[in-house]
Amino acid sequence: MNDPMWRDRAACLDADPELFFPNTDHDTTVEALRYCQGCPVTAECEAFAKRNRCEGVWGGRLRGRGGLFASRFCVSCGIAVRPVGARLADYPGTRMYTGGGQCQTCFRAAKNRGVAG
Ligand code: SF4
Ligand SMILES: [Zn+2]
Repeated sequence: MNDPMWRDRAACLDADPELFFPNTDHDTTVEALRYCQGCPVTAECEAFAKRNRCEGVWGGRLRGRGGLFASRFCVSCGIAVRPVGARLADYPGTRMYTGGGQCQTCFRAAKNRGVAG
């Protein structure tokens, strides 16, 4: 767990680092998570991300604002959405997920415009 050389064993060692910082224009979350699947140092990676409050894909998860875990980011506004059923208090700064990759706020706005729903 305290092995400082854990990065040398990372499955993503030769991957494009950009993949691990998905944004709304280019959501690479799924691609990045493919590297994490079966990576031998997910625990070390996650611990590092937690300590340093990193955002992006670390340890097989997408981390959102405030360094807390988020399931993904809203495809419309880019704000982190919390896992379904999770409380806002546990995931400050996140929005509720509805479906279609959007947060509830964007989903409703689109619905009001007659675009979705
Ligand atoms: S868990 Fe994912 S991000 Fe972390 S080192 Fe492994 S492949 Fe890279
Ligand atoms: Zn949104």
